[in-house]
Amino acid sequence: MVDIAATISALTGSLEVIKAIRDTNHAYDKNELKAQMADLYGNLADVKMALSDAHMELKERDQKIKELTEHAELQGSLITINGYKYDDKDGRPVGLPYCPQCEVAENKLYRLTLLSDTRSRCTNCKNGFPVAADGNVHPEKTNT
Ligand SMILES: [Zn+2]
Repeated sequence: MVDIAATISALTGSLEVIKAIRDTNHAYDKNELKAQMADLYGNLADVKMALSDAHMELKERDQKIKELTEHAELQGSLITINGYKYDDKDGRPVGLPYCPQCEVAENKLYRLTLLSDTRSRCTNCKNGFPVAADGNVHPEKTNT
């Protein structure tokens, strides 16, 4: 996280050094001027680093906003049948549903891939589900 207050402080320090050099009535001695310039350089280097960090943070934030917006738009276009979310086309499910486990665990939607007429599998978490592209759940038969 960029420390905005420290960045403003470094920039203020830089401006004070520049003002001191500008407003002086006497000629700076070479060592004094070198020391002032070293302070100025250090302050401006801090400002540059802080701005670079801020740039990266804004890029990451923009990417996160984009992902969340796309996720929200996708969520709004889904139809839920028997607890599984499908793409919605005119109120009917299209294609295979998304993995309900990954949606809860990662808040991401991974479309299942078809294993058989009645089973699908998530390519992310590798779990199998008793659903198919027809929007029906096909409970596994038990031998009890
Ligand atoms: Zn999954």
